[in-house]
Amino acid sequence: MKSWRIVGIVLGVLLASFGSVQVADTATSVGRWMTVTAYCSCTKCCGEHAAGYFASGEKVYWGGVAADWRVLPPGTKVEIQGFIGTFEVEDTGRVIKGPRLDIWMPTHREAKEFGKQRLWVARNAR
Ligand SMILES: [Zn+2]
Repeated sequence: MKSWRIVGIVLGVLLASFGSVQVADTATSVGRWMTVTAYCSCTKCCGEHAAGYFASGEKVYWGGVAADWRVLPPGTKVEIQGFIGTFEVEDTGRVIKGPRLDIWMPTHREAKEFGKQRLWVARNAR
């Protein structure tokens, strides 16, 4: 009897995770796998002219991301697998080409620890 309960729990978890995949791929949003990296406002990440502003002119903030503006134009709102909330395309960069996303983070250490990940990025189609 006890093992059936465990099977039920495992099945529930599987269904729940499958459900979350479907949420990211509903009729109102489109998604794709992207190579996601992170950066901060330091000179290592942004060069010697690092000024603490995104290419859009906005002051840097948590929730701003850099993308290839031909793929995701500035102002595009995206959801990134594993992160809570909505991110907005504010920045771009020489090396940010194609299906790439660069998440702004407040410290260089966090950005470095994030490394490079392949994540599902959902874009609100409305
Ligand atoms: Zn940095």
